[in-house]
Amino acid sequence: MIKHLRSAADLDAATATLILDTAAEMAALSGREVKKLPALRGRTVVNLFYEDSTRTRISFEAAAKRLSADVINFSAKGSSVSKGESLKDTALTLQAMGADAVVIRHSASGAPHRLANWVDGSVVNAGDGTHEHPTQALLDAYTMRSRLGRLDGLKVAIVGDVLHSRVARSNVLLLTTLGAQVTLVGPPTLIPLDVAAALSEKTQVSYDLDAVLPDSDVVMMLRVQTERMQDSYFPSAREYSRRYGLDMLRMRKLPEHAIVMHPGPMNRGMEIAPEVADSPRSTIVEQVANGVSVRMAVLYLLLGGK
Ligand code: ASP
Repeated sequence: MIKHLRSAADLDAATATLILDTAAEMAALSGREVKKLPALRGRTVVNLFYEDSTRTRISFEAAAKRLSADVINFSAKGSSVSKGESLKDTALTLQAMGADAVVIRHSASGAPHRLANWVDGSVVNAGDGTHEHPTQALLDAYTMRSRLGRLDGLKVAIVGDVLHSRVARSNVLLLTTLGAQVTLVGPPTLIPLDVAAALSEKTQVSYDLDAVLPDSDVVMMLRVQTERMQDSYFPSAREYSRRYGLDMLRMRKLPEHAIVMHPGPMNRGMEIAPEVADSPRSTIVEQVANGVSVRMAVLYLLLGGK
């Protein structure tokens, strides 16, 4: 088993499948009255969050607690980080406390890679800048597999702000490893061809959402990440929504069995219409629930739980 999960590229098909299968076992346990397993008793998991998060932080905390680990939640606000303490000094503090795993979210791409050099425990990337978010990709793959029964040969459209999306990057890497066919869809400004090519040569690019929908099993809408945009990438929110937003009319172009995904948080009314987000085809709430099982599997396998 690998020691760290810094990138979806750390996972070959066998390891990724083992994580998804283990997550399915974890999910079966969550139906029990007592949800806790003693697997990581006596181990310490630190959640080190330098960037805001709702779902991911809560999900990692729930996952570690269900495995009976001791959980320390550290958020940059209210810590010595606001006094200018460097990531390295924080890492040395965690090391002194004997953290078995550090789950890190950071605005700097590559922060988990640096951290892995400074601590002895496992490092799990919970989102680093515009780079990667591997556990999101795993929970997305898990959701696709449980809804549609397979990943191999599945046609997945990832739509919108690919340029700033760590979710898109990790999904492309993981899904192509597992045999899915990925098409990136969005305005050319948000899918520069060199970015798409550098990500994976197996991925296709389209600027026409209406043309891609009828042949998609999965459509994954990305949040337009205005907080990471220094330039203007499209004329207006209305124009973006008209060309790349998923509304009810567009959703009808999907095959009957197709599902609609979004990693959250959503800009309702921009990349996704509220009626679409709340429709039975949407797996958005399911993705959150699956996130806990997938993160339990990741912590359990990385830490060699019993
Ligand atoms: N929650 C995801 C992330 O942290 C997606 C997003 O923010 O749009 O990357």
